[in-house]
Amino acid sequence: MGMQSIGRPTSPFPAGVSDAETVSGSKGLLQNEGLIFEIGCPNKTGVDLPAPEGKKNRLGGVARKQGSGLPGLSEPEAVRHYMRLSQKNYAIDLGLFPLGSCTMKHNPRLNEKTARMPGFADIHPLQPQRTVQGALELIDELATWLKTLTGMPAVAMSPKAGAHGELCGMLAIRQALIARGEAETRKRVLVPASAHGTNPATAIQCGFIVDEIKADARGRVDMDDLKSKLETTDDVAGIMLTNPNTCGLFETDIKEIAELIHAAGGYFYCDGANFNAIQGRVRPGDLGVDAMHINLHKTFSTPHGGGGPGSGPTVLSDALAPFAPVPFVVNDDDGFRLIEETDGAASQAFGRMVAFHGQMGMFVRALTYMLSHGADGLKQVAEDAVLNANYIQARLKHVMTPAFDGYCMHEALFSDAFTAEGIETIDIAKAMLDEGYHPMTMYFPLVVHGAMLIEPTETESKQELDRFCDSLLSIAERAAAGDETLKGAPYLAPMKRLDETQAARKPVLKWTAPDPDALAAE
Ligand SMILES: *Cc1c(COP(=O)(O)O)cnc(C)c1O
Repeated sequence: MGMQSIGRPTSPFPAGVSDAETVSGSKGLLQNEGLIFEIGCPNKTGVDLPAPEGKKNRLGGVARKQGSGLPGLSEPEAVRHYMRLSQKNYAIDLGLFPLGSCTMKHNPRLNEKTARMPGFADIHPLQPQRTVQGALELIDELATWLKTLTGMPAVAMSPKAGAHGELCGMLAIRQALIARGEAETRKRVLVPASAHGTNPATAIQCGFIVDEIKADARGRVDMDDLKSKLETTDDVAGIMLTNPNTCGLFETDIKEIAELIHAAGGYFYCDGANFNAIQGRVRPGDLGVDAMHINLHKTFSTPHGGGGPGSGPTVLSDALAPFAPVPFVVNDDDGFRLIEETDGAASQAFGRMVAFHGQMGMFVRALTYMLSHGADGLKQVAEDAVLNANYIQARLKHVMTPAFDGYCMHEALFSDAFTAEGIETIDIAKAMLDEGYHPMTMYFPLVVHGAMLIEPTETESKQELDRFCDSLLSIAERAAAGDETLKGAPYLAPMKRLDETQAARKPVLKWTAPDPDALAAE
């Protein structure tokens, strides 16, 4: 059987099957499941112990007067409830997760094994530091890898997500401006139109004003627009630029951009969320970057999304290093220790971002990943990620419309130009659910109409990429042909099209018991 989707039926479902409902609400072997409050009842319990005899009540009058209202379930009911819910979860361990910008790569099991080693998992942040020398050494070693890979002299390890790392970098920039006595005058931060929403949000949060730079026809920073914004230079605090950018393209003018910003007296914040595409090949320090966060949970394979906390260490240039937040690890005659106070070595620090030292579990996983790949392996990660994305672009582009000409980096971006009138990106995304795929990132970046941003990552095989492309091509062909059945997708998912705006604006987070009188009257 060929891989091309020519000759497929317009709808993959036989007539009538698409809206088939079952008596149980289950479909195939996927079980329908209600809320735990609906299936449990308050007077049931998973254990059945006799009341203790001859024991004095020691609750001193604070014993509960009514039941807790928690749903009671037997053990098998409780187990089934959570198993059934887990079946509704899409996960990287189930299939390809093509969310562009998110770098949903496989989380190696080796990482989990090391993170669970008692010497890392069972220690407490308030333990005396001489009892956790190995953990501090691990943070220091990871810091060395990050500095080496980025070609930067310093790194703040404590930020707990990419957005938190942005906050760290921008606060360091603000502190540097305060030290220069220019914090009140330099308020403008340049941000490209294609930027991730966290970039302008971070700048505003730090008290800056955002000035949007246009994208050019090649999907990169419009250099004329940038230059015109730098005509007045005494109010520029810096630029926040993603590279490769959120269109999946390398900013080819990046060195000139850095020079222009520095000449204007500003700093260069680089959003490093896409470092997966260039690690081992390009050192941001060589490009003139002053601060850049690294999403350990993207580039270095630690779980994210529903899977775990993030970690966003932020590398800093010589110009910003003195302003790095506490705490940080030093290694001197006393061994490894954390500098906690903003005096002495940290007298210029802008402050502290987290209670302790950062996400230890993610540090262990990230360093495990680095050591198991080695320097050459990390370079190959970047090359394979770019190869996979270009393979997808090449396979899809005879039907779907690439947003920009030429090769992409680690993610392939398409516009909705190929769809027939009335068929939108959301329809394609919903139809992908029926094919068993999590949709790609949609409607981002904003500079591309009906954007579809597909990032396969390096951990997918050619076979899996082909399976994905076959599915998506068949949907894209239906979209190009104006197949109206797409508007009803998903047909096979437990939930259909939800009112997402309503859910975000008026979330119903509390279960209210049905009124027993109303039930009796029915
Ligand atoms: C993921 C991402 C961020 C934010 O990172 P979080 O860890 O989700 O806070 C910022 N910029 C870009 C381009 C991203 O892809």
